[in-house]
Amino acid sequence: MSDPRRSTPRVDAVLADPRLVAAAERLGPVLVRAAVSRALDDVRSGRLPAEAAAEAAVAALPASASTLRRVLNATGVIVHTNLGRSALSPAAVAAVTDAAGYTDVEFDLAAGVRARRGAEVLGALRAAVPGAEAVHVVNNNAAALALIVFALAGGREVVISRGELIEIGDGFRIPDLLTAAGAVLREVGTTNRTRLADYAAAIGPETALVLRLHPSNYRVTGFTAAPTLAELVSLEVPVVYDIGSGLLAPEPLLPDEPDAASALAGGAALVTASADKLLGGPQAGLVFGRSDLVTRLARHPLARALRVDKLTLAALEATVRGPLPPTTAALRTPVTALRERARRLAAALADAGVDVEVVDTGSTVGGGGAPGVVLPSVALSLPTAYAALLRHGEPPVVGRVSAGRCLLDLRTVTPDDDEDLLTAVRTAAKQT
Ligand SMILES: *Cc1c(COP(=O)(O)O)cnc(C)c1O
Repeated sequence: MSDPRRSTPRVDAVLADPRLVAAAERLGPVLVRAAVSRALDDVRSGRLPAEAAAEAAVAALPASASTLRRVLNATGVIVHTNLGRSALSPAAVAAVTDAAGYTDVEFDLAAGVRARRGAEVLGALRAAVPGAEAVHVVNNNAAALALIVFALAGGREVVISRGELIEIGDGFRIPDLLTAAGAVLREVGTTNRTRLADYAAAIGPETALVLRLHPSNYRVTGFTAAPTLAELVSLEVPVVYDIGSGLLAPEPLLPDEPDAASALAGGAALVTASADKLLGGPQAGLVFGRSDLVTRLARHPLARALRVDKLTLAALEATVRGPLPPTTAALRTPVTALRERARRLAAALADAGVDVEVVDTGSTVGGGGAPGVVLPSVALSLPTAYAALLRHGEPPVVGRVSAGRCLLDLRTVTPDDDEDLLTAVRTAAKQT
């Protein structure tokens, strides 16, 4: 055979293949050209016959123009930060799609004039939280805390219990955020016990606010003490309560998890929360509370640097107004329903020769809150080799390895994805 380098087709000739022309419409020319270049490299090095180049490039095309891939979360951790925290509801996905083009986010179609950005979304949030005089939305809860310090506590003291100086993950420490934003931290009490008198002794002319932080990812148990919210409020300094998880109202399944409505009813001046934890929405930070304070946040120059885009506003409104998001559904699904699904899935897999068992297990809420709470759950148990095979599948499935088995916890897989889960496991089984 002749030197493969001489018989290598030109890039343009391969790109003329109708399948690649269509792919370029969908993915853009850069990704298609890259796939063709890789195929031609293989032709040049003799690993691929020249006439197979187009076919190989088609097979190597990415599924979408983004490298972010849809993943099935079978970890049993409902709000899994590494997997994007919350999955949006179909209603929120539809709202994002509608808002993706030109949209009336800052325009009053009836009057034909400029309107307040996202006014309807703020209205929906306010309606969902009784007691919220006003609402402001920023990029995430960390941004909400930063904006509160910029606008209300720059150069002044924020009083906080030593038991609430928390790191929330990936080395990110809330006290560092507060000082970076310009607050002077006034730490009171000890890790396990802080009394009202500790707060009272620290409050003076330099105090801007008292911050209460919900330790959303750990618990202090045993010999502990902390004043109630009502006691803190009696100090007559604005109390800002970072509830973390974003529950708007009490959730009976998580009795120890704070919620925005109760925190406001308890007298907090402002409540901050993430929108993509237990609320089940897009990444955003929510601030509810006194309208004079919220107005100061919204008018602060840095508010502009922290504002959310139209896609977030669309998803947020549909999450609050629309059907239950998957996060809430995962939390509330009765274990009997999970067991029934597990049996059906296991039967289908056993028919395909897969070594599968149905086991009882426990799911957790995850970084979103409710530390220490274990929700009864049911998993498909497979040999450990499946863990890696499933991560490399299409779509990738992320389970957890426990006691030498790969567990696929069904609480965090929506039933709509059961068929995809079956296909992924069957495909992996062929590779074991
Ligand atoms: C998660 C969390 C944050 C950070 O929220 P992001 O939305 O990730 O910025 C802040 N405070 C508490 C208590 C949290 O649980």
